[in-house]
Amino acid sequence: MVSRSVFVTGGNRGIGLAVAQAFARNGDRVAVTHRGSGAPAGLLAVRCDVTSSDQVDAAFTEAEREHGPVEVLVANAGIAEDVPLVRMDEDRFGRVVDADLTGAFRVAARASRPMLRNRWGRMIFMSSVLGTEGGKGASNYAAAKAGLIGLARSVARELGPRGVTANVVAPGLVETELIKDMADERRRELIGRTFLGRPATPEEVASAVLWLAGEDARYVTGAVIPVDAGLALGA
Ligand code: NDP
Repeated sequence: MVSRSVFVTGGNRGIGLAVAQAFARNGDRVAVTHRGSGAPAGLLAVRCDVTSSDQVDAAFTEAEREHGPVEVLVANAGIAEDVPLVRMDEDRFGRVVDADLTGAFRVAARASRPMLRNRWGRMIFMSSVLGTEGGKGASNYAAAKAGLIGLARSVARELGPRGVTANVVAPGLVETELIKDMADERRRELIGRTFLGRPATPEEVASAVLWLAGEDARYVTGAVIPVDAGLALGA
């Protein structure tokens, strides 16, 4: 396969790192964003907080200087700040939407420029099972993750005629830092609702992302791919 210029937000750890390493193993040239931690050898670490358009632009410029125009974007960076609706203030709601949804918009808009010029591109957005199911205490996170579906499908419609696909991956429960503070009871409940009786590994999510970015998925656009062992289908 031809080596591509790949840009992964939040690729310094968790699911994003597994995605970045899978692309790197595939022979692609991979840039990952970080907010001070750097990244493992073999990946180009570019500093970027996705809540800043200026930092997004600078990070893309740096990645493009080293690797050429970005051809594959994985908008993966995300945070969660769960609290029941009665205690959800506007700041907390806005912080999560700004990072998880508006951050994805910022990188997609910036990535669209080289993709339109090249008449080829792949955008993959990291949503969540909560984007379609909602989640108790997660009104901010679920709203942002649902918004990614509308964003991706709009990008798919707008840029499809120019050779760019846009898809969504919706993981269920994945063993990373993000869920480290989840109560044991809640974790057991969610695992019990999966058909396979276990959480996903970050690598299992990365496999879906790699497939969507590859030639075999060239006719797939505007899709939401669950990687959740049936979690979204309900008990
Ligand atoms: P982690 O907490 O392990 O990683 C989150 C990543 O996002 C880190 O690299 C973090 O960077 C980065 N990030 C957060 N905010 C920003 C920001 N403002 N600017 C740039 N980078 C930022 O979580 P996961 O790997 O689990 O999550 C990755 C994605 O997968 C998220 O979008 C999450 O919502 C989604 N997801 C995760 C699930 C799970 O069960 N783990 C389930 C469904 C979806 P830094 O190191 O600087 O903090």
